[in-house]
Order: sequence, then structure tokens, then C-alpha cells
Amino acid sequence: MLKLSEIFFSIQGESSYAGLPCIFIRLSGCNLRCNYCDTKYSYETSFEKSVKEIILETHKYKPIKLVEITGGEPLLQDEVYLLFEKLNLEGYKILLETNGSISLKKVPEYVIKIVDVKTPGSGFENSFLLENLQFIDSEKDELKFVISDRNDYEWSKDFLQKYKLENYKILFSTVLEKLDPQILAEWILKDKLSVRMQLQIHKFIWDKETKGV
Ligand code: SF4
Repeated sequence: MLKLSEIFFSIQGESSYAGLPCIFIRLSGCNLRCNYCDTKYSYETSFEKSVKEIILETHKYKPIKLVEITGGEPLLQDEVYLLFEKLNLEGYKILLETNGSISLKKVPEYVIKIVDVKTPGSGFENSFLLENLQFIDSEKDELKFVISDRNDYEWSKDFLQKYKLENYKILFSTVLEKLDPQILAEWILKDKLSVRMQLQIHKFIWDKETKGV
């Protein structure tokens, strides 16, 4: 059985898949406690379901075939690998949101990984497992930096340079309450960084406190 926080259907708010209707499977439990976490409710389990039951629930949203497995931290539960396998057999495109601190070694190649690199503002700047860089496919996977202030921005730029990630799919987003997106946009343009700036668009469509969107 997998421990879950929620399963819902919404508009994908982040990554290069932003804007597309997507089925979200939010597993519960997280090994980090980021300062800006907007899914604290996912630390606790709301319900449990077998992989088979989860697949049946995704069928409700036919013909949509885009699914995101998120958390919490979804890689904390071993059964998630069975979920990947079954969703793949059913022809779903699978996005995985993970916090970067757990090994990606066993994540199958068909899963599109969206991996956080925690900046100092999160309170967990040393949580990223550097060995995970070898499992990031620069053609399809994405690395995400959530930026609270100028220090986070400089730290992220240094990280990209240090590990030669300029040709990877890089996402920069702001902690809305702490950094005006316009300021981040101006920094990126001034430095001519080849990163994708993203806003969590679900927070503009619905109230930012709304759950299940
Ligand atoms: S890794 Fe994600 S779910 Fe966990 S505390 Fe940080 S922001 Fe919240």
C-alpha cells in the first residue's frame, strides 16, 4: 500500500509541462522541512491505496495521459517503483517531482524527473545528492531552483557554473512572498542566463492557499 496525501486533477503549474491538464498523485511524508513549504499537509498521511486502486482512480480522468507523482517526497516509499511500472504499461507520461536528496539511481529512464536543488533560503542547502547529477538526462529531465533572495540567486548561478549545467533544462522560480518575480526576471535578463523562469501558475488561477489544485 502507498501512503497518500491527495489525488487530484488540475492544470500543471510548473516545469516545461506548465499549462497542461495533469493528474496529480501526492504521496505523503517528507524527509525535509523547507522554510517555504506550501504542502505541509503532505507530511501526514490522509489515506492509503494499493497501486491497482491508484491506477483505477487515474482512469477517471481519461483521456488525459499526463500524470505527476509528487509529495512530500515520493521516493521515500519503495512501492512508488511499482506505480511507475504500472503507469508506464498503461501509456501514461510520468512526471516525478523529487527534492533531490534521495538517490535517483533506481528511477526508470521513462520517468521525467523534475529535481529540486535546494538553495540556502530553503534551510536545506546541503541536501542535494551530488551523485544524482549522473542520473539527470539533460534532454528530458529538469533541475529546479526555488529562489528567495539575491543570495539564493547567486548560489544557483554558481551551482550551474560549477557543475557545468548550462545545457540542462533549468527552472528558476521565486518564493512569491519573498521575491517579486519581476526582480528575478530582471536578474536573469541582465545576466543572460539560459534558464526557464517559471511561476506556479495554479496560484494565479486559484487562490494560493487552495489545496488540490
Ligand atoms: S521537500 Fe517539498 S514537501 Fe518536503 S519540505 Fe521541502 S518543499 Fe515541502
